Amino acid sequence: MPRPILATIHTAALRHNLARMRRSAPDARVWGIVKANAYGHGIERVFDGLRGADGFALLDLHEAERMRALGWRGPVMLLEGVFEARDLELCSRLGLWHVVHCDQQIDMLAAHKTHQPHRVFLKMNSGMNRLGFSPQRFRAAWTRLDALPQVDEISLMTHFSDADGDRGIAHQLQVFAEVTRDLPGERSLGNSAGVLRHGGDPAVRADWIRPGIAVYGSSPDFPVHDSSHWELQPAMTLSSRIIGMQMLAPGDTVGYGSSFTADAPLRIGVVACGYADGYPRHCSTGTPVLVEGVRTRMVGRVSMDMITVDLTPVPDAGFGSDVTLWGRGPHGAVLPIDEIARAGGTVSYELMCAVAPRVPFVVGE
Ligand SMILES: *Cc1c(COP(=O)(O)O)cnc(C)c1O
Repeated sequence: MPRPILATIHTAALRHNLARMRRSAPDARVWGIVKANAYGHGIERVFDGLRGADGFALLDLHEAERMRALGWRGPVMLLEGVFEARDLELCSRLGLWHVVHCDQQIDMLAAHKTHQPHRVFLKMNSGMNRLGFSPQRFRAAWTRLDALPQVDEISLMTHFSDADGDRGIAHQLQVFAEVTRDLPGERSLGNSAGVLRHGGDPAVRADWIRPGIAVYGSSPDFPVHDSSHWELQPAMTLSSRIIGMQMLAPGDTVGYGSSFTADAPLRIGVVACGYADGYPRHCSTGTPVLVEGVRTRMVGRVSMDMITVDLTPVPDAGFGSDVTLWGRGPHGAVLPIDEIARAGGTVSYELMCAVAPRVPFVVGE
């Protein structure tokens, strides 16, 4: 029998979350963001749940090939555009749309031999200072692209740095609006936080929204709002089982570094899940975990293959009991991945992407 750890992808939750995002932007089309192998869920595994999207956006050309191999004929966009000139050949062959964020990418397009002009998304750096043309140089880039026979339609996009936080998006929105005012073309601005928190503004919804994390069921602005506030359902459950128990006496310690000391008799369970499965090592005593759907806490340190949990709230639990590390537990219980991420000093995005190759995946409802 394999180790009992398992990641389950919930197709119905993906469908629900996608519909939820559409409700926030009913007039916009939706990019399903499937970069990083669909935030670690697996492109092939999420496809059924997300096939209602209007297009799929990702970064890696191999991932784009996988979308086409699934039979998806609709839009596929490369969010960072091409990395070298020959990538454009694959764009032509697979009919990929691509971001253009720098002069070098325009140079490559200008030298590219294609029979089918490319649909491109010209990216503005409106303040994030990652990818994109500065507001001062954006129009010149547009004019240059517009003159190329290799280019068909030019859409306009930018990305928010603080859609989830206090600074907000007004400063970037204003820059983008000013510079693009009289330019034709479709617009795309909002990620999950942009749409959920600022989607009341039609300029944020624009023509295309780009929700990633919300589609996978995590709140983009946790802990200000949790996933139930946004009506999102976990698209991934990481589960395992108890493979051993110990009875601690007062003064007994648990695990490496003896970081936890029992102050009263305590029954603990040993769970087959550790940092080599992608569980964050920085989680410590107190991190929530479900045993048979009942909320309890981790005690001691995370080790490579195991964690240890307090069994006090679940006296009937024992060898083989079901453990939910995050996601959906038995009896309708939910443990949001956001809580585990926070306890581990990181974000849900990282946990989703870091589920280790040794963890088997299944697709469920
Ligand atoms: C990843 C990404 C998104 C999705 O962001 P979420 O916070 O996951 O919704 C949107 N746009 C771009 C350009 C991205 O790279």
